[in-house]
Amino acid sequence: MDDTIRQFQELIDRSNRIVFFTGAGISTESGIPDFRSPGGLWEQNRPIDFSEFVASADARKEAWRRKFAMDAVMTAARPNDGHNAIAALYQQGKVPAVITQNIDGLHQMSGVKEEDVVELHGNTTYAKCLDCHKKMSLEAVKKVFAKNETLPTCSVCGGIVKTATISFGQAMPVVEMRRAEKEAIECDLFIAIGSSLVVYPAAEIPVVARHHGAELVILNREATPLDPYATLTINREIGETLRYVTKL
Ligand code: NAD
Ligand code: ZN
Repeated sequence: MDDTIRQFQELIDRSNRIVFFTGAGISTESGIPDFRSPGGLWEQNRPIDFSEFVASADARKEAWRRKFAMDAVMTAARPNDGHNAIAALYQQGKVPAVITQNIDGLHQMSGVKEEDVVELHGNTTYAKCLDCHKKMSLEAVKKVFAKNETLPTCSVCGGIVKTATISFGQAMPVVEMRRAEKEAIECDLFIAIGSSLVVYPAAEIPVVARHHGAELVILNREATPLDPYATLTINREIGETLRYVTKL
């Protein structure tokens, strides 16, 4: 065990209210590529932003094509040591919430209750009408789309249907942002994991925690712009690091 891990361990042991904040990096060990690593999703595809999705049928078709191309990977993914270590601390009662930028549902699958996972960027395991918010299953969308790439529309209001994720340019979910800020303000230790911390406004949350007196730990393979704010930065692999400190 090196010094950094020992310091991390001590911070966890002496904190009573620990909030985790995760990004795509925690799910790479489950086989889901992140955005910005080599081989990540951005090397293959430029993201389609919200205004483009709404304005263009071609963009919507491309979005659904990509979605279904990734679906086998998403469906097969299971929580890894990183998710399980967080779930273990959660079960001990020290973790009131896990804030995540991920859309893969793996924290819930690892045993963190749905109401304690704060999804800042929504969820990709179902779809929703952009106007009346009626849910539509991916199965139903798939069936429609299979017929010559017909775009799904809402059965209630005829509105545009999109995965229940927040795209670039789309408004952040108000309730989730508020909860995230509240948890950041109230915690004594805030641990950011597997996020490049460049996507705003999500990346403001660790700064809020720090300004309200929490210790801030950043665990990520590479440096982030918020490193100067951190009590401790750990540039290591996520699964093995969390396994150590939670004694999994
Ligand atoms: P990002 O791709 O910008 O950053 C991921 C970071 O994790 C990188 O800095 C990378 O070096 C690090 N990383 C990857 N694997 C690691 C490992 N095993 N150990 C240590 N570090 C590792 O991701 P982001 O900051 O979450 O922002 C991207 C946005 O993309 C998010 O808003 C999210 O909504 C979305 N996204 C989600 C998923 C998912 O749900 N799993 C996947 C891709 C993208
Ligand atoms: Zn509708």
